Amino acid sequence: MRVYNFSAGPSMLPLEVLEQAQKDFVDYCGCGMSVTEMSHRSKFYDEIHTECIALLKELMNVPENYEVLLVQGGASTQFEAIPLNLLPDLNGKADYIVTGNFAKKAYKEAKKFGDIHLAASSEDKTFTYIPKNPDLRDDSVYTYICQNNTIFGTRYTTLPTLKSGILVADVSSNILSEVMDVNKYGVLYAGAQKNVAPAGVTIVIVRKDLIGDGQAICPTMLKWKTQAEAGSLYNTPPCFSIYMAMLNLRHLKKLGGVSEIQKINEYKADLLYDFIDNSSFYTNNVNKEDRSLMNVPFVTGDKDMDAKFVKEAGENGLLSIKGHKLVGGMRASIYNAMPVEGVKALIEFMKKFELANK
Ligand SMILES: *Cc1c(COP(=O)(O)O)cnc(C)c1O
Repeated sequence: MRVYNFSAGPSMLPLEVLEQAQKDFVDYCGCGMSVTEMSHRSKFYDEIHTECIALLKELMNVPENYEVLLVQGGASTQFEAIPLNLLPDLNGKADYIVTGNFAKKAYKEAKKFGDIHLAASSEDKTFTYIPKNPDLRDDSVYTYICQNNTIFGTRYTTLPTLKSGILVADVSSNILSEVMDVNKYGVLYAGAQKNVAPAGVTIVIVRKDLIGDGQAICPTMLKWKTQAEAGSLYNTPPCFSIYMAMLNLRHLKKLGGVSEIQKINEYKADLLYDFIDNSSFYTNNVNKEDRSLMNVPFVTGDKDMDAKFVKEAGENGLLSIKGHKLVGGMRASIYNAMPVEGVKALIEFMKKFELANK
């Protein structure tokens, strides 16, 4: 039996995608072997790789002057790859806006590789809002943001206005969930395991003129240029993760693409936030205008009650809804693959739980 899985990541994938992978697992397209067994230099794999990149370009409307790279190491490895690729040397300047745990980690990592300035932070209010007037410098190479804050449930609804340089964004937990204008960014990147595929592949979309040698100390494997010149086949890619991404992208295209899924995502998030806002039992502590479409944290205000909620939700087929340890309470991650019915089932359960425990 399948459950409604509200995990923040790795998270749900569409059933159709899983079933397609299952069907082809042992003998992919009659080639007599699994995608997990074949050479990354084979014709079969090459078609998967090429289609995955082409679908990303198509669905995200990636302009010609951008490169789509498929790399390894998760989103976290880009925390160091970004300053190593974009800054000329250890004196290179970048501004960071810290809106959550992942942005903070990126900021700390970047400090090893440049003149890094903390332009704003929302840590004073446990990251429940997006800072509005960051103290940006006028000679920075880039400004860094985390566009959707997976743990705290906030997101940028409008991108910051820059004083200099380019915008770099971590979109790990909102890639393909809403329409993004790639032209507004120099670099955007995402780990796969929230909204694209099983963990393994990391997508880096970077404007071509920004791909260079980076800092002299930049390791070959962290250099975007290495993978750009090799079509993301410099070394063995995470073939199966890329294959699953390709299937999921095909699925998204069939649904009508990002603008269509965005409407569904907005509908799902509205259902849940409206219910929470109209309840005297549950609260979402995030600044209303900065609410995430993907990650919805909520609490009852009583730790024991929250624990009871998580336990009983699990018994009712609503899994992995426990909040991150930094926030506590509950968090419903409602990525692209979470059906509307899943959100409705959660709301029905929340109603019943409230009645039984108020
Ligand atoms: C999950 C997540 C990360 C970390 O991703 P890894 O692939 O595990 O390194 C970074 N940023 C955001 C916004 C995330 O949601």
